[in-house]
Amino acid sequence: MKSQSKKDQSAKRKNNVQKFMQRDQVFDFLTPKATPKLDLSHNVILYLEDISVSFDGFKAINDLNLYIEAGELRCIIGPNGAGKSTMMDIITGKTRPDAGMAWFGQRINLLELSEAEIAEAGIGRKFQKPTVFEMLSVEQNLELAMAQDKSVWALLRTKITSEQADHIDEVLQSIGLIELRNDMAGKLSHGQKQWLEIGMLLMQKPQLLLVDEPVAGMTHQEMDRTAELLTSLAGKHSVVVVEHDMDFVRSIAKKVTVLHQGSVLSEGTMDHVQNDQRVIEVYLGE
Ligand code: ADP
Ligand code: MG
Repeated sequence: MKSQSKKDQSAKRKNNVQKFMQRDQVFDFLTPKATPKLDLSHNVILYLEDISVSFDGFKAINDLNLYIEAGELRCIIGPNGAGKSTMMDIITGKTRPDAGMAWFGQRINLLELSEAEIAEAGIGRKFQKPTVFEMLSVEQNLELAMAQDKSVWALLRTKITSEQADHIDEVLQSIGLIELRNDMAGKLSHGQKQWLEIGMLLMQKPQLLLVDEPVAGMTHQEMDRTAELLTSLAGKHSVVVVEHDMDFVRSIAKKVTVLHQGSVLSEGTMDHVQNDQRVIEVYLGE
């Protein structure tokens, strides 16, 4: 990946120089580039390689390497301050690393894109606190999430195409709120609001979903339903879940990554990481 991309870059530069010599050509490298299409030919959707970031001299992320496969559901666990949220901030462009590389598929260099461009390219993030519009219906929240112009006035004026209506129905079905579509979002339970927010992310058709602590504050029943929802999204999407609740992680996880002091401490099945002596020491020391 690393040497490959260096080679690509130098080939590209040479190519650009050659183009400059041919003055009769249109210099397409000077025109603003659209986000390249996501290339999953190696079946890997996210590469984080040797990523480090410091805050006032403190290394929050330290030589982090993480690879997420296309369609995978990955859980990230780790004690407080391990760097989980900072890792998400790097993937979404909110924080820029001091070193390392971050690729979305084979061709999209996340470190060259703005936060908005990263979202546009197909990475959606759900924060812990739901931010649904309480005064709008469940369905209107989904419509708003899909709209380019995010004002309620634009929403009221916009006609939904039949394709969009189908997509809304599909999302309502998968988040289990189809019967509550006309209810005010403000009336939903905490868990239902979390699902609605996942639905709002799905309206953008993201390829990769980042979900930070989805079951905090949920009832057991809501947790089970959330486990089903996230499991059903995998395959169609790649999903990365950061979660503290071990029972929940056990209920959904195929592969678990344990972060500690900004690096990967252990990775594998839940059984594997729970029996890893280094993981046990870190959690006992909490
Ligand atoms: P986690 O989500 O695993 O609990 P975080 O990624 O939030 O951990 O934080 C990792 C470490 O980096 C913590 O020690 C935190 O205090 C520090 N940190 C995170 N963001 C900032 C920031 N913007 N400025 C300074 N320190 C930060
Ligand atoms: Mg966090």
